[in-house]
Amino acid sequence: MKDEKIINGNCWVAYFDILGFKNKTRLNNGQLPVLAYMYSEVADRINKEKENLKEVGSQQYDCVWFSDSFLFYSFDDSINSYNIIYFAAHQLFDYMIITKKWLLRGALTAGDFYADRNSNIYLGEALIDAHSFTEKQDWIGLVLTPNAHAKLVASDHNPFTWVDGLGFREYDVPIKRRRYDNGTEKITLDCEKLWAYHYRTNDCRRDMIMDSMRSACNRGGGLAIEHRRKYENTLRFYEAPCQCSVCGKI
Ligand SMILES: [Zn+2]
Repeated sequence: MKDEKIINGNCWVAYFDILGFKNKTRLNNGQLPVLAYMYSEVADRINKEKENLKEVGSQQYDCVWFSDSFLFYSFDDSINSYNIIYFAAHQLFDYMIITKKWLLRGALTAGDFYADRNSNIYLGEALIDAHSFTEKQDWIGLVLTPNAHAKLVASDHNPFTWVDGLGFREYDVPIKRRRYDNGTEKITLDCEKLWAYHYRTNDCRRDMIMDSMRSACNRGGGLAIEHRRKYENTLRFYEAPCQCSVCGKI
């Protein structure tokens, strides 16, 4: 087996899951190889991006996936590594949504992380943080966790101009809170102020994502209420005027 180095320390971690994957696997019942083929195209794309970065001498991250979960991690928590993880994460987000029409939720965080690729062991507070912020989002989106944002603020860069410049804006992100009442799961809808990745006002990808959300909403029959809500929440985000340093100038 190839000898991969063990990562242990503070890292940038991005986690994603695919919305509605349960249905995709059900619909492909008996035809899982078809789904696997589509999946392999995503894997090829991720590996190609990694090779491209290696060619320019900056392969400072790795990615693993299992079922509908994708995990990207850097080898340290430098700003340079943030840029690389951000790049890899938003490339996947854009590609999946725009090209594949597979809708993702994801979160990018900073924190303690351990990865041993040879033994397939991935652990740490950063993974739990990124996973919980991914799961609770009630839309299609990619957010910076408060830990990641604090880390950027603490860096030498001017975080607001800098984060804005990379496509994040502050927003009341719709979330789901889960609690258990006498063994029954109760879900409350709420929102949390977070930095969320967005396509700027003049970006054609913004129109594409809005079109796909609208057509998903208009598909009518059979669309589960919680899916419709996620699409509508996403549309609301893109329809709200953006004051970020990039959109604000347009
Ligand atoms: Zn903006």
